[in-house]
Amino acid sequence: QSSAAQQYVQSVYEAVIKRNPHESEFHQAVKEILDSLTPVFAKHPKYMNSGILERIVEPERVVYFRVPWVDDQGKTQVNRGFRVQFNSAIGPYKGGLRFHPSVNASIIKFLGFEQIFKNSLTGLPIGGGKGGSDFDPKGKSDNEIMKFTQSFMTELYKYIGPDEDVPAGDIGVGAREIGYMFGQYKRIRGGHEAGVLTGKGIIYGGSLTRTEATGYGCVYFVNEMLEAKGLSFQDSTVVVSGSGNVSIYAIDKATQLGAKVIACSDSNGYIYDPKGINLQTVKRLKEVERKRISEYVNEHPHAVYTEGCTGIWSIPCDIALPCATQNEIDEESAKLLVANGVKAIGEGANMPSTLEAIEVFLDKEVLFGPAKAANAGGVAVSALEMSQNSMRLSWTFEEVDAKLHGIMKNIYQNSVKAAQAYGHPGNLVVGANIAGFIRVADAMLAQGVV
Ligand code: GLU
Repeated sequence: QSSAAQQYVQSVYEAVIKRNPHESEFHQAVKEILDSLTPVFAKHPKYMNSGILERIVEPERVVYFRVPWVDDQGKTQVNRGFRVQFNSAIGPYKGGLRFHPSVNASIIKFLGFEQIFKNSLTGLPIGGGKGGSDFDPKGKSDNEIMKFTQSFMTELYKYIGPDEDVPAGDIGVGAREIGYMFGQYKRIRGGHEAGVLTGKGIIYGGSLTRTEATGYGCVYFVNEMLEAKGLSFQDSTVVVSGSGNVSIYAIDKATQLGAKVIACSDSNGYIYDPKGINLQTVKRLKEVERKRISEYVNEHPHAVYTEGCTGIWSIPCDIALPCATQNEIDEESAKLLVANGVKAIGEGANMPSTLEAIEVFLDKEVLFGPAKAANAGGVAVSALEMSQNSMRLSWTFEEVDAKLHGIMKNIYQNSVKAAQAYGHPGNLVVGANIAGFIRVADAMLAQGVV
């Protein structure tokens, strides 16, 4: 029976490759999920018989569109916009928008596919989606950002809504971009539909703790993994890649829990600060001045800046939190981390470890918190923002933070239990994938072939 399940999973995987040629990131995300699910199909053939897998790997809808805008020199620029509405079995499509030159169909589909399972893991009623554009925000003026985001929303608005599809931020999309997009949506629609976007400013319907949620949630999750082994953040050394919203609040929470964070990075290089990263400097440089992380050493001359991104994984640490981007830890970096004694990995970014890197970590029994579980705090608080918008009221920071903490603990527990129940004790990759899948699959079963 288990070989029937294996054959089934393999045939679906081959069909995905055939139908989506040259989409390596999407293939990678699908492969990780499908491999994890084999024991589920072996145990419950009902999922095999009803075509759940064939349906779940095919987005319900994909739109891509032209985004024309005029730059500060008066030149017309054209970018491509995307929205993948992957699965709405348990709630409206939900997932961020990424503005980055690397964005293409493969990237958006891998992110949208992951989002289905991540969102399900939160236990909240949100389906999976993702979108974005190949627009490069780097070096653009505030005016250009506004022009672009307004044009983007002028097309996107047709496909979204508080009960249909609720975008939020991701790489290159923060509070400023969400604000401009919300303004444009409101203008086009002629009504204040607060629940159409999450990550909004607090004064117009945003939720307290949303900014902190992904980074805090990641640290809460890792803390659960550590505690189960009698370990903690206290007095540990931590390396966090990236210096965006996820990294900043991962650094913040890890430091609050008594860790020393000794490195972070941006897409050009990384800084090593043996005294512990000064978060105020990083926040000002990245969020206010929008400068490169290399500038950090001007203010903290004892710190060292190194060009290139992968070198950050050669720094010995107890805990590594990859919070930058996909595939930032390859097999070689994983081996280096292990050789230097890393005890735990918490994925703050989406799919930051390659399949080979994950193998290395699991093989060496490093505690490994996979992205779908470890970074689900962001979208979880987005769902709480939607709830507050529906009720037209807002919860305090402490209330939302407590809910976030509870959700991260649940995700950990449910992942541990699923891993155990399906014969892979301690493997949170398998556990998170299975726990996320089952809720969606059961909803799809209940709703018939749609
Ligand atoms: N972009 C985030 C993620 O990858 C957040 C999505 C959301 O809040 O909708 O989960």
